Amino acid sequence: MVRTNASNRPHQCDKKMDKAKPVWRIPLADIDLGPEEEAAVLDVLRRRWLSMGEVTAAFEADFATLTGARHTLAVTNCTAALHLAGLALGWGPGDEVIVPSLTFVATANAVRYTGATPVFADVTGVDDFGLSAEDVAERITPHTRAIVVVHYAGYAADMPAIMALAERHGLDVVEDVAHAPGATLDGRALGTWGRIGCFSFFANKNMTTGEGGMLATDDDELAERLRLLRSHGMTSLTWDRHQGHAWSYDVVAPGYNYRIDEIRAAIGRVQLAKLEGANSRRRTLDALYRELLPAAVPAIGVPYLAARGVPSCHLRPVLLPKEADRVAFMAAMKAGGIQTSIHYPPVHRFSYYRQDEDGPSLPVTEAIGAREVTLPLYPAMTLADVESVVSAAVDALAIALHSNERPSG
Ligand SMILES: *Cc1c(COP(=O)(O)O)cnc(C)c1O
Repeated sequence: MVRTNASNRPHQCDKKMDKAKPVWRIPLADIDLGPEEEAAVLDVLRRRWLSMGEVTAAFEADFATLTGARHTLAVTNCTAALHLAGLALGWGPGDEVIVPSLTFVATANAVRYTGATPVFADVTGVDDFGLSAEDVAERITPHTRAIVVVHYAGYAADMPAIMALAERHGLDVVEDVAHAPGATLDGRALGTWGRIGCFSFFANKNMTTGEGGMLATDDDELAERLRLLRSHGMTSLTWDRHQGHAWSYDVVAPGYNYRIDEIRAAIGRVQLAKLEGANSRRRTLDALYRELLPAAVPAIGVPYLAARGVPSCHLRPVLLPKEADRVAFMAAMKAGGIQTSIHYPPVHRFSYYRQDEDGPSLPVTEAIGAREVTLPLYPAMTLADVESVVSAAVDALAIALHSNERPSG
């Protein structure tokens, strides 16, 4: 079995454990964990308070500084953040929430958790994989409550257009910022444009806590509701009672346990301190991709040549020509030790999301879903690695075009 990208680099393993031989010469992604993370975890273990407390509060404060958001709440993952956002905004059965289909399935699943119906809208075009405000406008009905925007690959969606549309129709905007911590548009952090931003610290994201997430909002009332729902609907935390700040608690909603813990918050603080440097390195590497790819393989489409704002460059997507065989392309890259992936198989095509309707018409999403390949991008890559991926792509495309000329079967 192919190991996941986050675990196949030897320096991440315990020195006493057998190191797995790296499967890939250049993996799709890689995490940067060093002595600072180790020390931060040990410090938490030695202080013997593991559930959400001071370290989490400090992590949230750091994240508020990064984003400029008035309230930040750490949670167990971004999927939980999206669920809480929908609950805090009052989504329920009969409501419609417009989401992209070109996203990770959690964006749509979280809408379902609340009982609301995700309505899929198309993305802008082959150069910009963000939600199309024009297409969103066509999907608005009297039942529409909100729009969930995904900042694909760490590039800002067209927030001015989407916010203006939402305002005209009285809709809430939630941002799925899983790809875009530290990214900005017009000097404003992504995740603070809409009413609530939902961040992910999963192992392959720009910063990680293993599993983890963060909510950001400027709205005091929403923040209070999110805080209650994150922890069983209880009015005080174990930490508050330990500190002698509270003797008891009331329960004011059937909340969840979507808390992070001190161990992960400690890792998060170290990762957050590295984020700006890591994002800047990603931008340098991505700039080289954007320079080399169009010259070396003009048949391959390179989206986001001109990006809005300052991106976090989470992914480097490319579009193969229609006539290329994507499986053959990815197999040829793999033969050269280079891991690639697809972001994303469109959500509206999955069995679960196909069951209740004929399916929406999403021509741009379908075209991207059929042709997209994601190339390796992570801060520890060298410029030579990027050159090596590009030259492998030249050869892989030749194979992929040739293999499609042969009659199949
Ligand atoms: C990773 C991801 C999520 C889910 O994040 P988790 O922290 O794993 O729950 C949601 N949306 C997008 C776009 C993602 O990439």
